[in-house]
Amino acid sequence: MNNKNTSLQNLHWSKYNKILKSKKYGYLLYNSLTNSLANLDNGTYSEIQKIKKDPKNYDYSKKPMLYLQLLQNKILAAPNEEEDTINQRKLKKRQQQYDSHKLTLAIAPTTACNFNCSYCFEANKKSSFITEEIENEIINFIKRFFPLKGMHINWYGGEPLLAFDKIKSLNKKIEDLDVPYQSSIITNGYLFDTNKIKELKDLKLQLLQITVDGPAEIHNQRRTLKNGKGTYQQIMNNISEILSSDWTGILKLRVNVDRNNLQSFAEFYQKTKKEFPSEQLKIYPGIISDLSQDNLDLGCAFDRAEEMNFYLKLFEDYGIKADSFYPARKVQSCIADTKNAYVIGPTGNLYKCLNDIGVEKMKVGNITNQQVENRDLLSRYLIASDHYQIEECKNCFYLPVCNGGCPKKRIKNLAGDKNEDFCLKFKGNFKKMLETYYQIKMENNESN
Ligand code: SF4
Ligand code: SF4
Repeated sequence: MNNKNTSLQNLHWSKYNKILKSKKYGYLLYNSLTNSLANLDNGTYSEIQKIKKDPKNYDYSKKPMLYLQLLQNKILAAPNEEEDTINQRKLKKRQQQYDSHKLTLAIAPTTACNFNCSYCFEANKKSSFITEEIENEIINFIKRFFPLKGMHINWYGGEPLLAFDKIKSLNKKIEDLDVPYQSSIITNGYLFDTNKIKELKDLKLQLLQITVDGPAEIHNQRRTLKNGKGTYQQIMNNISEILSSDWTGILKLRVNVDRNNLQSFAEFYQKTKKEFPSEQLKIYPGIISDLSQDNLDLGCAFDRAEEMNFYLKLFEDYGIKADSFYPARKVQSCIADTKNAYVIGPTGNLYKCLNDIGVEKMKVGNITNQQVENRDLLSRYLIASDHYQIEECKNCFYLPVCNGGCPKKRIKNLAGDKNEDFCLKFKGNFKKMLETYYQIKMENNESN
């Protein structure tokens, strides 16, 4: 409200308000600019309707508290207030995208894999391992960004544990740079053993992501070793050993699900939670839409409607709250739309998206060169993918709480290649989602 002209003659009903009628909870008033939600009793609802119709001439002296709340939550907005708030969010995102004090690298020390997953599109690609020369080039590459206040390294693959020695030696060289850093790893989890688990702390690994395909009978059909042997039990044994070690990070267990295995996810979730009650373990569904058509579903890009419906059904049918039912309003960027962020393949090729590794035309350069070569692609990822300049987003009710989704999907759409859905997962089932959020809130209040 600061410095805003909030005299009555200037106020208007915000375009970021939505009133929803819930059978169970009556009227809910949501504002996406402030991400606020209020439950309206019938009396307040009828006053709100009058205000909505004619905000300038309503007699607020009878309802001073209501007036204050409407201003605080930007339900009534002053001229430019909505634009200013969006611009502040835009600014925050730009500052994050162009922060020169931080560097994020996803490093694939190998593209080889010990699994032979039935749906994998990597199987026919030639696999390679990082060499000492490339390790040293990565260190030189990092130095080009100095001075740095912090770094994040994400080990990726192929299966990165196949190159554990390389991870260790490169980690040592990174440590010698004397820049604070944290790291994470995306792995199939099969090759962990007691020695590797002991090293997790030294590698500054704060996040492990392991993927399974659900319960043993499903997983063992789909995620096998090259010789066809199932991998489930070994992965679970390793998870058990990790959780009982002195490592204190977060272990995210991503469970691949598709339209057909909702029930098996729920059973797996309940059984695994019971077996490993540790707070360190977070189990979440990774929704697969169609892996054969595209390679977007490796960890970050989900299908919106399927994802939301899946979460709702999971909660309704099994009481499992696998994700939030309320917009998070976080300003976030991924490697693709962040300037100081790259994916590095084992031969030193640079990419802007995890899913581009090994795809020649998606390479933006190589660490041995001083300059990024494919500046067209780089600028597409950094600039053209900006959702704040896409017409559909500019006029969208969800813009204040939406991060813009996956940049790779957005540039595909801009190039006319595809019609990818990159929208906020809540869009489309917003009412149901808010009702569920409100229900959980009420139940929590009652139990407190
Ligand atoms: S561009 Fe999309 S698929 Fe690529 S890293 Fe970012 S969110 Fe993931
Ligand atoms: S990505 Fe979709 S939900 Fe988000 S602002 Fe754009 S149109 Fe709206």
